[in-house]
Amino acid sequence: MAIVGKRSRSEWQELDSQHYLHPFTDHKELGEKKSRIITRADGVYIYDADDNEILDGMSGLWCVNAGYGRNELVEAARKQLEELPYYNSFFQCAHPPSIELSRMLVEVTQPQFNRVFYTGSGSESIDTMIRIARRYWELRGQPDRQIIVARENAYHGSTIAGTSLGGMKAQRKQGGMLVPGIEHIEQPYWFGSDRSLSPEEFGLQAARALLQKIEEVGADKVAAFVGEPIQGAGGVIIPPEAYWSEIQRICREHDILLVTDEVICGFGRLGEWFGADYYGVTPDLMTFAKGVTSGYLPLGGVMVSDRVSDVLIDKGGEFYHGFTYSGHPASCAVAIENIRILQRENLVEYTKNEIGPYLQKNWATLLEHPLVGETRMVGLMGAFEIVKDKGSLERFDEDDSVGTICRDLLVNNGLVMRAVGDTIVTAPPLNLSREQADEMIEKTWKCLDLTAAAVS
Ligand SMILES: *Cc1c(COP(=O)(O)O)cnc(C)c1O
Repeated sequence: MAIVGKRSRSEWQELDSQHYLHPFTDHKELGEKKSRIITRADGVYIYDADDNEILDGMSGLWCVNAGYGRNELVEAARKQLEELPYYNSFFQCAHPPSIELSRMLVEVTQPQFNRVFYTGSGSESIDTMIRIARRYWELRGQPDRQIIVARENAYHGSTIAGTSLGGMKAQRKQGGMLVPGIEHIEQPYWFGSDRSLSPEEFGLQAARALLQKIEEVGADKVAAFVGEPIQGAGGVIIPPEAYWSEIQRICREHDILLVTDEVICGFGRLGEWFGADYYGVTPDLMTFAKGVTSGYLPLGGVMVSDRVSDVLIDKGGEFYHGFTYSGHPASCAVAIENIRILQRENLVEYTKNEIGPYLQKNWATLLEHPLVGETRMVGLMGAFEIVKDKGSLERFDEDDSVGTICRDLLVNNGLVMRAVGDTIVTAPPLNLSREQADEMIEKTWKCLDLTAAAVS
């Protein structure tokens, strides 16, 4: 039985535009175009109010890793809500789902991680990570280590700390003063560079921008470096092979905490449990959210390594930080069941050895299209670059918004992918079948042809 009664599509659209302020939305534009009303979902498909079936090549917002229609997750939430819908973990209390999930997270993460701090979202995880990193150095007797180094075009959420740490210019410009003590270095985006260096040389150079920044501000002022293993919202920026190990080397050399923001890369997206596993680095802190519950309920957190938690616990006394919904029982129950699904169905291995390589191989054929200047994909996270001229890789003018044209055609033809400028990105659910992967490629080819016709 549905909780919300039935209305026509136009009724929903009217009420929506009158009352609902959406995230990251130009409401004047939305008022004219109206929202697409999504009413249900199953497997890798979503359905709109006109019952159009659309393959969700974005897993919602990079989060529905196990796919839609998972009764096990629904039952986990329902049972937990019946048994104990809410209790907090303040004041020396705890409950079984949050404890059990902690044990499981320790099991699926690298050996240095034995403790977890829960939040309600990726942004809160980022806020928490900054507070933990700075607190750690305070307790180590180096309170001047406050600076967090992040990257241009990074996305770390939308709270004030998330906006401050993020590197998206348009977002950072709105709303006045940001959190002090945050520095940005260049992103490892080879295609977006002048391409005068080889990808490997470029990757090393981009990593060494961290060294330059450390020398500029002083190593004794730097608390941590944070990066998404692969930048998601910025356009699926896959760093050259040498990048992350060089970043780690520089952090170790200067005793700087290494943080990977695993909000997208975590929980199998890259064919490993975490992005740090894929790149073979051992972070001191990892932030996560999204895929931990496959998006069925909100949950986030920070994995805290022994190096950090030993200091916080031994010397720290009370850490004045936490959220009403830290370790929410129903969210934790869903996360437990979600991890069990990933394990039971071997979805991480399936992504690494089967569907990942299969989609990657077919994705690479898109390069034969006249509009495509580069394709790239790791696990089930990929992108292609739309160009005006294949030879010189010259882009279309910014106001042609060809990416948006292509994205709209894709959605209208039954495939959700996202446009980041003229970069089209994808991150389908990990239980994608080969037939569905073929469907993605067929629809993409068709829409690239339609895009070419529209801009010629
Ligand atoms: C989505 C995202 C966040 C923010 O998560 P919210 O749950 O939206 O607050 C942070 N970091 C990365 C890498 C993300 O993709």
